[in-house]
Amino acid sequence: MNRNANDDDQLGTLVTKDSLSPACPIRGCTDTSWYADAHDIEYHTSDRTYSFHKCHRCDVLFIVPMLWDRLGEIYPKNYYSYASKKTGIIPRQRSLDWLIVKLLASIPGDRLSVLDVGGGSGWILDQVKSCSPRVSFTQCVDLDEGAQAQAVARGHAYYLGSIEQFETDRRFDLVLALGLIEHVRDPALVLRRIEDLLTAHGRVLITTPNFDALDARLFRHRSWGGYHTPRHFVLFNRQSFTELAEQSGLGVVSFSYKQAPWYWSLAVLDAMRRLGLIEISAQRPVYHHPLYPLLRASFAAFEFARAPFAQLSYMVFTLGRR
Ligand SMILES: [Zn+2]
Repeated sequence: MNRNANDDDQLGTLVTKDSLSPACPIRGCTDTSWYADAHDIEYHTSDRTYSFHKCHRCDVLFIVPMLWDRLGEIYPKNYYSYASKKTGIIPRQRSLDWLIVKLLASIPGDRLSVLDVGGGSGWILDQVKSCSPRVSFTQCVDLDEGAQAQAVARGHAYYLGSIEQFETDRRFDLVLALGLIEHVRDPALVLRRIEDLLTAHGRVLITTPNFDALDARLFRHRSWGGYHTPRHFVLFNRQSFTELAEQSGLGVVSFSYKQAPWYWSLAVLDAMRRLGLIEISAQRPVYHHPLYPLLRASFAAFEFARAPFAQLSYMVFTLGRR
């Protein structure tokens, strides 16, 4: 399949593949078209080809097939061990610390409750607690059975299950959903559930990839790192996520772009793999490669230089009740 990587719906070229027109997971729209094919270039959980489709009404990308009922297959055993490290694949805490401090300062009350959706072993909640002595209750909601004991040992309440299933009378002053919304089958439902759980003055901190970024366009047909195939189900840009949040009763209080240098690094390493220069396999995922930290540092510097004027590949939203 030789397609021009510059093909872009916004330039008036409607890209379609076969006659497939799967329904969009946000509103069930049928005005969708094929956008790109992609593979698991990080963990090589399988050799199968996945497709990303675009909903022209919602302006989102979504994966086909969406294997929401086969999470054990698409999340390899070594996945969470990376994600739970401070220097792991989602190194979100250091650059978000100041934002969490600022957010907590803006929320009234002597005793604050904080919920981390997809919080794993609770290491981010540890940091939230250290940001303010007013944080008196911390709750993790996560599907990871292995993380439960660690989270409880750290003093966090833990619900083993999805946020859609989580039932409580408690309302939360701060809800974190970091790198989460793109992993769920029904982002609108998750946002409505979060809105339900929020106090009147509460805030929600959400991070998610931006498919309008330069690297997303350059590597659209090269399994862009932000696809995180097949683990990212739905991808947004600034406008489309803002609209979804508003539809869910939440308004954007603040927004910023953030760099994701690992997306660039993945692309370079995958290009080297295709040239036969390096080996990346299920046994040796891309994050193990010795070149990975070097590339990541280089692209971090590149993205830092672009940051003042570019739409970078990660987005940070603070939301509140409308
Ligand atoms: Zn749609």
